[in-house]
Amino acid sequence: MSKKVIVIGSGPGGYPAALRLKELGADVSIAEAWDFGGTCLNRGCIPSKAFLDTGHRVHAFEGLRKLLKDGSGVNFSPDMLDWEKVKARRADVVFKLRTSLEKLFQAKRIEILRGRAAFSSPGEVTITGPGGETKRNFDAAILAAGTRPAFPPPFRDYRERLSDSDTIFGLPRLPRSLLIVGGGVIGLEFACFFNSIGVKVEVLELLPDILAGEDPQVTRAVRSSFEKRGVRFHLGKKTERLEFSGGLKAAVLEDGARLEAEEILVGAGRAADLTGMGLESIGLAWDRKGVKVDAGMRTAVPGVYAVGDVNGISLLAHSASRQGEIAAENIMGASLAFDDSIVPRCVYAWPEVGSVGLNKAQAEAKGLQVKTSRSFYLGIGKAVATDETEGFAQLVFDAADETVLGAQLVGGPATELVHLIALAVKLRLKKKELREIIYAHPTMAEAVHEALLK
Ligand SMILES: Cc1cc2nc3c(=O)[nH]c(=O)nc-3n(C[C@H](O)[C@H](O)[C@H](O)COP(=O)(O)OP(=O)(O)OC[C@H]3O[C@@H](n4cnc5c(N)ncnc54)[C@H](O)[C@@H]3O)c2cc1C
Repeated sequence: MSKKVIVIGSGPGGYPAALRLKELGADVSIAEAWDFGGTCLNRGCIPSKAFLDTGHRVHAFEGLRKLLKDGSGVNFSPDMLDWEKVKARRADVVFKLRTSLEKLFQAKRIEILRGRAAFSSPGEVTITGPGGETKRNFDAAILAAGTRPAFPPPFRDYRERLSDSDTIFGLPRLPRSLLIVGGGVIGLEFACFFNSIGVKVEVLELLPDILAGEDPQVTRAVRSSFEKRGVRFHLGKKTERLEFSGGLKAAVLEDGARLEAEEILVGAGRAADLTGMGLESIGLAWDRKGVKVDAGMRTAVPGVYAVGDVNGISLLAHSASRQGEIAAENIMGASLAFDDSIVPRCVYAWPEVGSVGLNKAQAEAKGLQVKTSRSFYLGIGKAVATDETEGFAQLVFDAADETVLGAQLVGGPATELVHLIALAVKLRLKKKELREIIYAHPTMAEAVHEALLK
């Protein structure tokens, strides 16, 4: 008889797991309490890129305007954008992708259970949905319940009056000014978008720098680019309280400064909330970072796996998907492990950022002696021709034998190029081997080639 598996959550962790399980012959059901496709498709990766695409079009138009004849009468300004149409475009993109994903599940005959799933006893899950309660027994379960926007203090006390990454997509009115709390990837992508459409944007970050853990060369380049476009950063600043008056929302900082804006978006990380999922009934512990797993995605409870944001390993959609596949394979008898050394870390703003493997500080912390090599887009033909000269390609090698350890790419199609280096890190390629590839001319990938020639 085939193995019965229940997947809880249909985000990029859960749905690839369900598809793989079905391919491998399991009897699989997937439970979803909200929108099929999870945070990524409905309130994360995809809608944020639809917003950023609008920003890109404005950016491109600004470039074109430089080439128009004087007096040609095009007086476009970003605030002419119709916010309702921008939101409708995002909704349309999400709807198309969600519908095709649901159709795929129907075509594969994977049971979708609409409702909130909770473990009712070892080996049993109860799904409470619009049609009442449904119970499913399982031989194995994959918990892929994701995370929710976190509201650290003091923002927690004002939650109802602030926006977060779930609600920002439906903001009824485009604010003239926006204070973004959090200088991580989510905060920066929204900062880039809202700035590009003419909103005055400030970013408030508790830590001394943006993009925690990222190479300082990268954060400096990103900050400087954003600042040139008018984004203001307040780094290493703790907020004491919030105040609301005259249609404005203000963060009052510990140093007495007051940052006012029409809207405040809290993008200060995400946290697991597994309340009501019956984890105690199966003896599975959790905290705000989620549920602990081993490299094969197994929790402490035999037969129960946890993938994606809910295990706190990397909070990225592509990590979630790989982990989902690994859990599926392992349930069906394989012995796979998640390799977190090759997870690309991307920022889809402009300049784009794509990092993978180790940066200099991380490699040195592991006791390695490293060499780095950097080339700038300013010297790359394609970059000059397309007026995309911002940024660089920085490669990190083991000084002992020139093994590629990682890269930090800023500018150009960094989020695409990063896969080239991920492959090199995975295969433990040497600098010489990566240099032997023939890089097409003219391409932005020549920045990598240039860095290899140094
Ligand atoms: C604005 C934003 C932009 C982002 N951009 C990117 C990006 O560009 N690239 C990237 O890699 N990552 C990005 N992320 C992160 C990415 O969205 C997450 O890492 C990813 O969605 C995690 O996938 P998951 O499957 O673990 O969880 P989720 O996608 O959160 O899915 C979990 C699902 O489980 C469901 N669920 C929870 N509890 C239950 C229950 N009891 N019963 C049934 N269903 C339940 C939820 O409703 C949800 O649909 C972004 C996040 C945000 C907020």
